[in-house]
Amino acid sequence: MSASSEQIKVIICSETGIDGTLLKDLKEWFDRHPGPIALEKPRGGLSLPLDSDGELPWAAGFEYLRHLRSVTGAGPADFVILLTKSPNENNWFCVNDPNSPRNAFAHVDDFSWILPSPPHVFAAQWVLESVFDGLLTEHGLRLEDVAHETPRGCFADLCGSKEDLRLKMKTGDICGDCIGLMQSTGLPEGLIEQAARLLQSTRATAINVSSYLETARNFDGWPFPVAVTRHKAIQATEPIQRFFLLLDHFDSLIRYFYLSHQILGGSQPVIAAKPSLGTWLGYLASSTGLEPDFRQIVRIAESEKIVQLRNERRGHGYVSMQAESYEHESKQLEIALAQIEEKLALHFSNHQLVYIKSVALEEGGDRVKGDKLVSSHLIHPSFTAKVGNAREAGVEAEKRVYLYTPRTKKFRSIHPHICVDNCPLCNHSRVLVTDGENRYIDVFIGHRIEKK
Ligand SMILES: [Zn+2]
Ligand SMILES: [Zn+2]
Repeated sequence: MSASSEQIKVIICSETGIDGTLLKDLKEWFDRHPGPIALEKPRGGLSLPLDSDGELPWAAGFEYLRHLRSVTGAGPADFVILLTKSPNENNWFCVNDPNSPRNAFAHVDDFSWILPSPPHVFAAQWVLESVFDGLLTEHGLRLEDVAHETPRGCFADLCGSKEDLRLKMKTGDICGDCIGLMQSTGLPEGLIEQAARLLQSTRATAINVSSYLETARNFDGWPFPVAVTRHKAIQATEPIQRFFLLLDHFDSLIRYFYLSHQILGGSQPVIAAKPSLGTWLGYLASSTGLEPDFRQIVRIAESEKIVQLRNERRGHGYVSMQAESYEHESKQLEIALAQIEEKLALHFSNHQLVYIKSVALEEGGDRVKGDKLVSSHLIHPSFTAKVGNAREAGVEAEKRVYLYTPRTKKFRSIHPHICVDNCPLCNHSRVLVTDGENRYIDVFIGHRIEKK
């Protein structure tokens, strides 16, 4: 078997009528859990050779896949997976061509009656199963040797009855027998690992308590300053502590959003010394070019009276001795924050916060390297981007923090409002966010410091 680092390119094709959002979400689902399987930008709008009942006969499906393989220019090692809106002859979820195991079609339907998972998660499950089926078939294993007819909560459950899928996806596991089989067959460890992480994410959407866990999961892709404050608030169990941490998070969201919005709009934020939450909200409210969606954030913040809450509860010295009295406010705040976070999610995914450490000349352009300041963990994943010319792409200097827009490959310096520097109180290199003039907040610990 090939080396574990080898990519398995999967070309996704789809029948007319399959939602573009689903295809985009499907690709992002795999992008978020990188590994050997990499999805190509999907090709949609295909009309299939259906029979008079509107079903796809298997033989016709296999034939059509061979045609797709040639028109897409797929290499022999690439998978071609056709997502169909129409059901197939035997009403299977997904089917590999036994004679050409890297060709498969899968039925994308409304399976919301089985599980609460969003549609792209089902599609991701089929893609994953098709790749594994294809690889195992190439190793001389037949489906009936591998798949479990009696469901046991394993990735390889046959799911003869559609309800069996419920158990499989809620378990999100691969049984010991199957892991052993995959290893002895020589499937790359990296592939099994990618599958494990994908199944874990699938499981999170399939279980009934998922909506309670939603916020705990989402901030993994957020910029560090706001992911940290969200993480802290989630962990707090004491109502008073939770309430104050939620307020800190609110402050952090508004602060980060205002700064990045200004920088992306090409203007330099001017921040008063020790700005209050009200000050930040005022800055945001009066900033120009704010899209209607973001105007709504200001409205939500005002309508939920968050600023007043903070002033009453903390700023003006009134602290209730009754911890329970914060529970109501905490819940109110939590609801408002969820709305704001939803509005900001796209902004967070469109513009990454990165710390650039070096720029090196490479053949055909500049290689920009550094750290992605993402999620609440202290270990930042590495960042790398190839651009024609780093300076033209916006990299003014090394050792600075930038907003990076992957779509346009542009960097915009957010220095000195956000920087990576030593925090004199903990004597560690930290992500520091402006608190006006030469004051900063070490967002990880919460230290408020002055820079010399
Ligand atoms: Zn199994
Ligand atoms: Zn510190």
